[in-house]
Amino acid sequence: MHYSEETPIDDANFLDYADAHGFGDLHLKVDPATGMRAIIAIHSTKLGPALGGCRFVEYPDSNTALYDAMRLARGMSYKAASVGLPLGGGKSVILKPKGEYDREAYFHAFGDFVNSLGGRYITALDSGTELNDMDIIEQHTSYIASSSRLQGDPSPFTAQGVLLGIRAAAEFKWNNPSLKGLHVAIQGLGHVGYDLARRLHALDVKLTVADVNKDAVARAMHEFNAESVSTDKIHTVSCDIFAPCALGAVLNDNTIKALQTTVVAGGANNQLAHTYHGQKLHDLGILYAPDYVINAGGLIFAADQYLNHSTKQLPEQLKNIHTSLLEIFHRSTDENTPTSTIADTIAQEKLEHTA
Ligand code: NAD
Repeated sequence: MHYSEETPIDDANFLDYADAHGFGDLHLKVDPATGMRAIIAIHSTKLGPALGGCRFVEYPDSNTALYDAMRLARGMSYKAASVGLPLGGGKSVILKPKGEYDREAYFHAFGDFVNSLGGRYITALDSGTELNDMDIIEQHTSYIASSSRLQGDPSPFTAQGVLLGIRAAAEFKWNNPSLKGLHVAIQGLGHVGYDLARRLHALDVKLTVADVNKDAVARAMHEFNAESVSTDKIHTVSCDIFAPCALGAVLNDNTIKALQTTVVAGGANNQLAHTYHGQKLHDLGILYAPDYVINAGGLIFAADQYLNHSTKQLPEQLKNIHTSLLEIFHRSTDENTPTSTIADTIAQEKLEHTA
């Protein structure tokens, strides 16, 4: 049976799914003392320990949680491999109960769980977890990449990487890495989007922006001379580059047909609603910078922090985003295959061919 990204798993086939997607190992923990239930999915440790965040969210059922952990773990492997980091891919989820629970006790138990894997998995912040939770986990394990001790906002490095990716796209599409005079539409002016807007404005790029946060929009209009449109129109702006920096699944059946851009290159995770949307963009001649490659700057920063590397090498490491994207764009053209598929293929090749 062929398992696609969208194939749902059930009790009977999750190990087949794991096998088909190149896992790795799956660790399940039920802690009777606290009631904590958690999953650590390790996709690969071939290139290094599996670093990936810990989610603490409500799931409709444990299969959905397992599938989420596996999908995200594989994404982390691909992200690290695509930019040459010495890391594997893993992700964990703690199933958030609907009723009452002892949050502190949960994270103490989870810290022991992480530690029990002896460093094969390194945990970090993700949806639903906070620095306080990480500090509790850190009492039980050193296999952790975010805590009060290891502070530092990754977003400026993510934004810097996105800018390098936009340059790669401009170089490939228009044979000109200079962005001066181009028009970029940015969806979302949060940590990444706002910093990206600032960097683009400094390069004389024309900006159109949208955010549900009206203050952020007003500031961008004032500071960067940006125009604004409503959040339901930003993807329809006629521009050179559309930069999604807010939500996942923004490239879907409805939005793709309304795009009036030549390039999609932004920092948001999971931009394609389904794998086949990569093909749709390719068919329309829209150059898509695969999300996990262009937004890898934050992971590069986090990895350097965890591995105690000096930040001196960061600018050089961030350049890997530019190099990797150019390779993806060229192969996509040569093989007439969507950039999203090429990105996966290159990551798989790196994982398979490393001794
Ligand atoms: P953030 O929460 O700081 O910013 C998100 C922004 O999007 C907010 O300003 C929010 O108001 C806005 N927004 C929400 N709904 C919107 C809508 N419908 N239309 C337009 N704007 C909307 O998050 P962030 O850290 O800037 O991350 C943005 C994206 O980049 C996310 O998908 C995140 O997973 C991804 N990402 C972030 C990093 C990082 O270092 N922060 C790294 C990799 C990937």
